[in-house]
Amino acid sequence: MNTENLGIFIYLVPLLFLLLWETYRRGARNQKSLRYLEKAKDEQLTEPASLHPVIDHNLCIGCNACVEACPEKNVLGIISGKAHLITPSNCIGHGACKLACPMGGITLVFGTATRGVDIPQTNEQFETNVAGLYIAGELGGMGLIRNAVIQGQQAISAIKSTIQPEHRQDYDVVIIGAGPAGFAATLEAKVAGLRYLTIEQESFGGTVAHFPRGKIVMTSPVVMPFVGKVQFRETTKEALLEFWQALKTKSAIKISFKERMSEITPIADGFTIQTNRGCYTTHKALLALGRRGTPRKLGVANEELAKVTYQLTDPEQYCGQHMLVVGGGDSALEAALSLADQPQTTVTLAYRSAAFSRAKAKNRKQIEHYATTDKLTLHMQTTVHAIGEHQVVLQQSEQQIDLKNDAIIVCAGGVLPTAMLKASGIQVETKYGTA
Ligand SMILES: Cc1cc2nc3c(=O)[nH]c(=O)nc-3n(C[C@H](O)[C@H](O)[C@H](O)COP(=O)(O)OP(=O)(O)OC[C@H]3O[C@@H](n4cnc5c(N)ncnc54)[C@H](O)[C@@H]3O)c2cc1C
Ligand code: SF4
Repeated sequence: MNTENLGIFIYLVPLLFLLLWETYRRGARNQKSLRYLEKAKDEQLTEPASLHPVIDHNLCIGCNACVEACPEKNVLGIISGKAHLITPSNCIGHGACKLACPMGGITLVFGTATRGVDIPQTNEQFETNVAGLYIAGELGGMGLIRNAVIQGQQAISAIKSTIQPEHRQDYDVVIIGAGPAGFAATLEAKVAGLRYLTIEQESFGGTVAHFPRGKIVMTSPVVMPFVGKVQFRETTKEALLEFWQALKTKSAIKISFKERMSEITPIADGFTIQTNRGCYTTHKALLALGRRGTPRKLGVANEELAKVTYQLTDPEQYCGQHMLVVGGGDSALEAALSLADQPQTTVTLAYRSAAFSRAKAKNRKQIEHYATTDKLTLHMQTTVHAIGEHQVVLQQSEQQIDLKNDAIIVCAGGVLPTAMLKASGIQVETKYGTA
């Protein structure tokens, strides 16, 4: 081999190898993205919840930067050289993809052509068109923990600057919701010396408390009252909640848990807030309700017993008990399956319809399998008739079914706050894929 040929050999072969490797890598990436997209279609996970990217395929060069930037893995993928949302329902609106795109090819929008998202109108001070009524956090359309924490504090600063000291209401401000937005707002209200009341229909932490156990939470540093700069970037749900809990204790803020606001009515110089515990008057109000809504109730006597809950957080706590799960969506089916996996636990799943049409195929198959192998009992077209301390009565057409019962998990969906917002006079715009 002469020197010229040797040079070609030395440079060309590695180049060819690199080319082949890159072609293989892109092919594998394409296949993987297609698999995720197909799975999302099968499982009906094709609608993003709220804020999500729209990719301009005329600008996209398929560089993969957005895919790598997204903290929630396998939400974006490259198919035929262009970026696509491959598991749209898992997008939580981080927006990191938009920042990463070198071509400016990504726009963040709310809703889709087929699924509108209701966004209440607020000004830069977070005040709605109803004077004195403010909105912070995800309810205003902007997701993420850091945004909620910042907005909660900023809204209280804006509220503080408008308080009229001579007002005659019970409180300066009532904060509704104790997720990240309501929590940060409460800390700020305490620092600002406001007469505040914070109410929360569930327990502490908002949507974060509902994340799956051990979920990795991606966030960015943020300044919070009492502690200054909080440096979390990547942590677990448990560590974040533990930190917030310690901060709650340190600041000695007060939050009234298990108190749900049902109505907010404008009055002269403020509002009346109606809850399941009482009625208060307030000069200003801050809605930090998030977007998960309020769990739908069964409307049966004794539903307020402690054994009735609206979410399953820890299946192990029910080990060895007689359980009833009510509902037919994925959360009901997943709750029933995980309870049935606990040793010596008796599980009944009751659903008012004839089929689980809203649930993923995978969950439906698994429930059928568990029912046919007696791991759980399935009662379709069945409602809850009566709840007792140690039993429950189901109604199936003309027949009543009496069961031993230690606890009931109701997964009947949520009532979104939109109707309540509109009833309070707040202007709400439904966005169909616009910014
Ligand atoms: C699966 C999933 C994963 C996510 N992962 C991340 C992540 O890694 N990083 C990140 O930054 N964000 C993440 N998010 C988004 C983040 O959880 C939300 O943006 C954030 O929790 C919004 O905070 P919030 O205070 O506005 O609302 P929420 O956290 O929803 O809190 C609202 C609170 O208001 C209460 N409430 C509602 N109605 C009433 C009423 N009528 N009366 C009294 N109380 C009421 C609710 O019970 C709730 O506690 C994720 C979201 C989901 C669903
Ligand atoms: S970062 Fe922009 S150009 Fe690159 S793949 Fe994503 S959308 Fe396309």
